[in-house]
Amino acid sequence: PNSKAGDGKPRLLLMGQRRSGKSSISSVVFHKLPPSETLYLETTTRIKKESMHSFMDFQVWDFPGHLDYFDPAFDVDNIFEEIGALIWVIDAQDEYLEAIMRLNTTILNLQHSYPNINVEVFVHKVDGLSEDYKGDTFRDIIQRVQDELSDHGYENAPVSFYQTSIYDHSIFEAFSKVIQKLIPQLPTLEALLNSLCSTCHIEKAYLFDIMSKIYIATDTSPTDIGSYEICSDYIDVVIDVSEIYGWPRGEQNGDDESLTETGNNDAESLITMERKGNNYLYLREINKYLALICLMGDDSPAEKKAVIDYNVGVFQAALKQVFPRAERDAVEAPAA
Ligand code: GDP
Repeated sequence: PNSKAGDGKPRLLLMGQRRSGKSSISSVVFHKLPPSETLYLETTTRIKKESMHSFMDFQVWDFPGHLDYFDPAFDVDNIFEEIGALIWVIDAQDEYLEAIMRLNTTILNLQHSYPNINVEVFVHKVDGLSEDYKGDTFRDIIQRVQDELSDHGYENAPVSFYQTSIYDHSIFEAFSKVIQKLIPQLPTLEALLNSLCSTCHIEKAYLFDIMSKIYIATDTSPTDIGSYEICSDYIDVVIDVSEIYGWPRGEQNGDDESLTETGNNDAESLITMERKGNNYLYLREINKYLALICLMGDDSPAEKKAVIDYNVGVFQAALKQVFPRAERDAVEAPAA
């Protein structure tokens, strides 16, 4: 119910004070900018809508002083009706009291009109903090928000907290958790992935949004960040992301129906398997946004590839039932 975008894509809104790290996050996650180069980014000004070849869709908002987003003149409905999650970025290296005040006001306002929007608080830039200070800051921020919410009788508001940094995988991990909440089909996806893993002796399987390297689902075996890193690095090795930016399929074909029928042409869909240290990695493009990546131990030698190909094919067909629209989405014109 939270996946509200008209085109069926989960829609995210990134908000927070100036210099909290919004442009950096969107550049690193969605545009492959090396984190160190965010030092030279221009800070977010006003509202930026982004259009991208991703399974999800998102917008970045600043707090421009002149724009009161709950001002009646401002078309709040139009914006918040489409949003599944509001990601609120707080700079943990800076004074954060004012940021929390604004966050609390926003949550209270949202609770009133849009109680279903998930509020996802990214306590950001934690890379610069000592372990102790990091933990204390995190707890303090949570406490300050929760106190305010219970004062107003909203202790059950859908607010979650994450510690993030663009200098490691934590930002991707957090986005993955945020996005998974917006996918009503998640239990189905997990069941499909579980079944694939047990049939093919796969240790870990991730369904990745290729462009952002956020995983939208994984099997329900315990996740460790190490296997996520191996799989996410593999995307870079195998898929030329610049091609995805220009992926012409939707437009070229003209009629979207044919895409719905066939999904990715198997001939075009990239399938590869490779040994990496003590593991085997298997990657298959599922549709224009998603790739399945599996991590297998040594006991799954390459000879089994045919079995895996077959079962992944079954998985891919099942997924088409789950996401009929993802195949159909044509390339969108960038919003103003
Ligand atoms: P915005 O105004 O919210 O869009 O903030 P920017 O994206 O312009 O970021 C402001 C500054 O914070 C930049 O100098 C970034 O390099 C820095 N920054 C962003 N994310 C991180 C992070 O995770 N860790 C650290 N240490 N710095 C960050």
